[in-house]
Amino acid sequence: MTNATNIMRMSELYVPTLKEDPADAEIASHRLLLRAGMIRKTASGVYTFLPLGKRVLAKVENIVREEMDAIGAQEIMMPALQPAELWYESGRWNDYGPELMRLADRHGHEFCLGPTHEELLTATMRNELRSYKELPLALYQIQVKFRDEIRPRFGLLRSREFIMKDAYSFHADQESLQKTYDDMSAAYERICKRMGLDFRPVEADSGQIGGSVTCEYMALAEAGEAELVHCACGYAANAEAGDCLARPTVYDVSKMEKIATPDVHTIAELAAFLDIPESSTVKALSGKNAEGQLVVMFVPGDHDLNELKAARAAGGFELLTDEDMEAFGLHKGSMGPVGLPQEARVIAARSLQAVPKWVVGANEEGFHYVGARLGEDFDVDEWADLCTVQPGDSCPECGLPLEGARGIEVSQVFQLGDKYSRAMGATFMDEDGEERPFLMGCYGVGISRSMAAIVEQHNDENGISWPLPVAPAHVCVVPLVVGDDFVHPAAEKLAAELSKLGLEVVIDDRKERAGVKFADADLIGWPLQVIVGKRSLSEGKVEIKRRSTGARRDIDLVALRDGLA
Ligand code: ATP
Ligand code: MG
Ligand code: MG
Ligand code: MG
Repeated sequence: MTNATNIMRMSELYVPTLKEDPADAEIASHRLLLRAGMIRKTASGVYTFLPLGKRVLAKVENIVREEMDAIGAQEIMMPALQPAELWYESGRWNDYGPELMRLADRHGHEFCLGPTHEELLTATMRNELRSYKELPLALYQIQVKFRDEIRPRFGLLRSREFIMKDAYSFHADQESLQKTYDDMSAAYERICKRMGLDFRPVEADSGQIGGSVTCEYMALAEAGEAELVHCACGYAANAEAGDCLARPTVYDVSKMEKIATPDVHTIAELAAFLDIPESSTVKALSGKNAEGQLVVMFVPGDHDLNELKAARAAGGFELLTDEDMEAFGLHKGSMGPVGLPQEARVIAARSLQAVPKWVVGANEEGFHYVGARLGEDFDVDEWADLCTVQPGDSCPECGLPLEGARGIEVSQVFQLGDKYSRAMGATFMDEDGEERPFLMGCYGVGISRSMAAIVEQHNDENGISWPLPVAPAHVCVVPLVVGDDFVHPAAEKLAAELSKLGLEVVIDDRKERAGVKFADADLIGWPLQVIVGKRSLSEGKVEIKRRSTGARRDIDLVALRDGLA
């Protein structure tokens, strides 16, 4: 059938809905996006977007694009394939660890598939932006990212290939960086609101990416992997904001080889990185390496202390003196342990910071475990507790007890400072004719993750209930009879009228039972359904159903047309 208007037809659309829940989908968004025929799994953490899923994705992208354009950021497109040299320059070829998808070309040149683009853009701009007169500048892209997540799961929430909007800004001074950061933060709030998300901006730790000023936007959802605390006064923080780990370096002590500086922020994440089963009992021993840095050795199983000491000596690490303890902010008996699966391996990490974030100096190098008193033996959960803000703790702003919640990190803003520009020699000429590294900010929105977060917040037992701005179409016209000369033509006419008004309209013109059409409409989640049946139509009426509330109303067609006109 030719389509005179741009009405979508269920008879032609590829929407392979599923009646049954897919076996390995644990949470609502994963299950419903599969069932509603929007996505299909290609490999672990890798998904294909089918027509309706692609439409939603485009809606989310456009909201983000409009808000970026509105604050003067300019859209670009960078390659996903990035040369390793740039990552060697920033130091992240090692530091990023196994999450970085690495590959080599036929000549043996190393590349990675970009998990983020600080290196690439810093390298591009260092040869282009030469003068303070060209600053500030904010560029963004909407593009696919690759991260070899240790646990890809929950469908689009934590995948290995996903879509992100990433923006980067370049500045001559802190004031300018702060202004763009504030503009971005305001844009991020508007983006969350327009997507229909119930969210909290939360204080967060900058972790691996560097810099110190950062905020995460958390969509509240039980399925979220992040734990947060919030207060009626408006204060909210990532419960892991006091992050224990500031870029630990992992060594294989048996070979004295640096393995990685993984992107982990808590002991639990470090344990996951080291393949230590959660809540297993583990042992650790502190020491000092040749550079005088704190080293914590994580040792497998329940070892005898002498054995651990022997391993420490074999690793070439020295005992901490009382002075060292003081310098690191350690208390006697405060060092502890974690275990590894392979008995033979001893791994040491340095720069652990189990510092609750309210401790002064928590972000300074050399401060470790200030204020924390660990026992000799710990399990991972105990360690995790030490680094978190707990529900019930007093709010640092108003003193009331904090409430706990779970959230999905949909986006994050960072002030990077000169971390990348300094490492990569990206400088500009300032007003006094001096070469200085740029100050930079970076700002990410998880496009595909947001799509899943929206579904987590907008669903019921029958399916998805898309907020209007991100719905694959606004209205679904459902003729209960197809191919007759009364109901079907009336439905077609109404669909065309709605479409002319600028609404996105789909008509369910399949020769299916009414029950099947209703079930699919609820599962897919069109915000409005207009049901055209023989009986009501003969009374000059159609039924309108609002998906979000389930409210149904008979509407007089004449009145509807008048209203539309
Ligand atoms: P997480 O803490 O969940 O691992 P992140 O802090 O590592 O996320 P960022 O580096 O801040 O992520 O990336 C910006 C945004 O990209 C995140 O806020 C999130 O929305 C999205 N994102 C990150 N990792 C994934 C992933 N594995 N799958 C889908 N989206 C992701
Ligand atoms: Mg991550
Ligand atoms: Mg994060
Ligand atoms: Mg983040």
